[in-house]
Amino acid sequence: MIGGGPAGIYAADILLKMERDFDVSIDLFERLPAPYGLVRYGVAPDHPRIKGIISTLRDVLDRGDIRFFGNVDYGTDLTLDDLKRHYNAVIFATGAVRDSQLAIPGSGLPGSFGAADFVSWYDGHPDVPRDWPLEHRSVAVIGNGNVALDVARILAKPADALLATEIPQNVYETLKASPVTDVHILGRRGPMQVKFTPLELRELGELDDVDMILYDEDFELDEASKTAIATNKQVFVINRIFEGWRQRETGSASRRLHLHFYAKPLEILGEDAVAGLRYERTRPDGEGGVTGTGEHRTLEVQAVYRAIGYFGSELSEVPFDAKRGVIPNRGGQVIDDDDEQVHGVYATGWIKRGPVGLIGSTKSDAMETVKNLVDDQASWWSPAHPEPEAIVRLLEERGIRYTDLEGWHRLDAHEISLGEAVGRPRIKVVPRDEMVEISDPE
Ligand code: NAP
Repeated sequence: MIGGGPAGIYAADILLKMERDFDVSIDLFERLPAPYGLVRYGVAPDHPRIKGIISTLRDVLDRGDIRFFGNVDYGTDLTLDDLKRHYNAVIFATGAVRDSQLAIPGSGLPGSFGAADFVSWYDGHPDVPRDWPLEHRSVAVIGNGNVALDVARILAKPADALLATEIPQNVYETLKASPVTDVHILGRRGPMQVKFTPLELRELGELDDVDMILYDEDFELDEASKTAIATNKQVFVINRIFEGWRQRETGSASRRLHLHFYAKPLEILGEDAVAGLRYERTRPDGEGGVTGTGEHRTLEVQAVYRAIGYFGSELSEVPFDAKRGVIPNRGGQVIDDDDEQVHGVYATGWIKRGPVGLIGSTKSDAMETVKNLVDDQASWWSPAHPEPEAIVRLLEERGIRYTDLEGWHRLDAHEISLGEAVGRPRIKVVPRDEMVEISDPE
């Protein structure tokens, strides 16, 4: 298994529990020194309920029937040929960690940030810079999905409210010093076409000392939106949340969250750094989509966060659909350019189906992949060295300083004790070398 996030761990668990007429042993390789992928490094720190999924994943790993190899990078430390020599098959569960590109002028200006990078920063990911330039009063967040909500909430939330979470100390200090007063969230469609989920949306309106600013012009609903409210429970609740915010008194808070709908980004303005965002006002096309009105508007902002979806990364020697950012597959069986199955190679999770759906949907996804893998027994690889010690020898010969489950327990306990010392649940260790050193003291 390549990838130690929820997709990989669920797939391993399902395979181990599945009725089958052969023994199975699973090695889980993870690029980072710690397991849990996007739950550790993507879920916002102030979402303890979702972070709680870690306890289910931990129960699976702690059972002891899956070997964990952290700090091992497929494509650099291990090749597909290595896997063929040691295993019968591989499942790629590498997720989607990059930002989708927003193809408008100015996207590359300093001050234009990918949401995924910002999320990695506040979640203490070892491979992103430790410093983040939070030095602007007005910022825009493009996108109407839950990642946009996370980004906007973390930007606007009083930093002290995050002390109860596991955010790294430098993140707390930077957020505490942030001069931001106005966060503008822009959706290219209407308020009834958002991808926010109701629970997460409601939470945005519960921040201390933050006014919610909505604009009447966005709430002249067309027939398609009215039908959506009448027929779709989720849209009904979302509408109620917006209506509640529209009734509120505003004007006294020190920060504001503005929601702009029917706003399609056209250009990020600025010479040497972001100075504004030009967008086109759109209108509903009657079918849930929008068309342009030709009216251009400008927002004065000094930073833009692009939260328009994640994108998968290509893996060495594995087919890749560069348009969708996924490994092409049929029910998890990887296929090549000629539509032929690539024997022994499978995919699950976001790298299989694209970066959509809550973590729970990863389970049914894994079920499908694992079932196909089991049914394909006749076409698996025949490894020359399937014995469990062989791969360990290979990693050691190559001088790869991998971490194991025991090492992770050590790091986990260390982070919790760092937190305990200052009355917090955990403080994450961020630098990769330090993570490895604590996991595997020499
Ligand atoms: P998402 O839900 O797909 O939302 C992407 C947003 O970006 C949509 O509003 C989309 O608008 C907009 N967009 C895409 N291309 C655009 C463009 N060129 N210009 C302007 N807007 C554009 O993706 P996400 O927010 O990255 O979330 C990924 C998944 O993770 C989702 O399933 C989400 O629910 C989940 N998640 C959950 C939580 C949680 O707390 N429960 C937190 C984070 C993420 P259109 O709709 O018009 O395409």
